[in-house]
Amino acid sequence: MNKKDMELFKNRLEEMKKSVEGQLSEVAEKSSHGENVYEAKFPEFGDTEDENIDEVTTFVDRLSIEENLENQLQEINLALEKIKKNKYGFCESCDKEIQEKRLEAIPTARWCLECKAKISK
Ligand SMILES: [Zn+2]
Repeated sequence: MNKKDMELFKNRLEEMKKSVEGQLSEVAEKSSHGENVYEAKFPEFGDTEDENIDEVTTFVDRLSIEENLENQLQEINLALEKIKKNKYGFCESCDKEIQEKRLEAIPTARWCLECKAKISK
């Protein structure tokens, strides 16, 4: 992969990171347990029984949204780390270059298609 393409992927990943962090800030807040660790916020709708039930339902939703977004954020950060170390675009299992088409579809891809197929078996 040439420098220009790498720069494009880097920009795309940074955009993705901003978007995921934005979504995270709506449902969660940064935890004191470390960098890039988030905790779902408990909503405050009111004190009636209905509102309390809604609060719990919303909180449970937020927990799964938060977990999903946090995983995405981790993948993005891993990819950005790989760019820094000039390892971006290489499969973490066999060290072969990952097809650029695959990276265009999934910029956070960590494995080539062959290794990915083996891993998910
Ligand atoms: Zn591979």
